[in-house]
Amino acid sequence: MSRSFLTIPIIAGVLILTGACARSVDGVRLTVFDCGIIGVNDVGAFSLTGDETDVRELFVPCYLIEHPSGRMVWDTGLPLSMAGKGRLDDEEGYHLYDRSFIEQLADLGLTPADIDLVAFSHMHYDHVGAANAFTRSRLLIQDREYEAAFGENVNPYFVPDLYLALADNERLVLSGDHDVFGDGSVVIISVPGHTPGHQALLLRLANTGNVVLSGDLYHFRASRALRRAPVFNSDATETLRSMDKVEALLEAEQATLWIEHDKALAETLALAPSYYD
Ligand SMILES: [Zn+2]
Repeated sequence: MSRSFLTIPIIAGVLILTGACARSVDGVRLTVFDCGIIGVNDVGAFSLTGDETDVRELFVPCYLIEHPSGRMVWDTGLPLSMAGKGRLDDEEGYHLYDRSFIEQLADLGLTPADIDLVAFSHMHYDHVGAANAFTRSRLLIQDREYEAAFGENVNPYFVPDLYLALADNERLVLSGDHDVFGDGSVVIISVPGHTPGHQALLLRLANTGNVVLSGDLYHFRASRALRRAPVFNSDATETLRSMDKVEALLEAEQATLWIEHDKALAETLALAPSYYD
């Protein structure tokens, strides 16, 4: 093949990288932790039929974002009480959580007291499982999620015992998107519908490029392809609007979507202690 054939894709690659570097910040790192597996017997609750996906296992991640101005944890996995117990079967499937998020942070020489900021895509049990450990971190939460989690009428799908220790945390209550460190490298994206104050996270990484952590906007690749909102979502119409918002963001940012529960994706990622920068 002559050199000229190679020129166009290389130029395109450079342009995309340059765009990514424009607002990325050197020294920002994203670490992904294995915070459990959920086995699902029936995908009906996700508004999918058994024929539409053959996936029956959901990966449960935790994330650490290290920025020159501070450390942030995004989602904290399955309940700590499940860690180290082996496979726990129930009527709907099972849970399996090998080593707790706290133990895995300790592997990196960190304790919860070293974490400046804590945020959750939403307050379901499989995202706030270690929340109570982060009482010294500043909580970043949407106003509607705060109300649903700590207000008078707690969302019936939330398990307050898992996060109530955060009630007195210093907090920043948000009502929309939020540029966490003020430099565009880490941006909370308001995408309500799965829960009232559900949010995703845009990361502009210098070498990896732009990545969006989905929260539970989608649980399965088929949820994205077929635009399906689980039956337990707080608002199906809002969910579809949020899907449109994220799909437009991915396009505009040339970003890669990481569906948090996508086990097949997780198997391709470099987990802790590796990191993405
Ligand atoms: Zn959820």
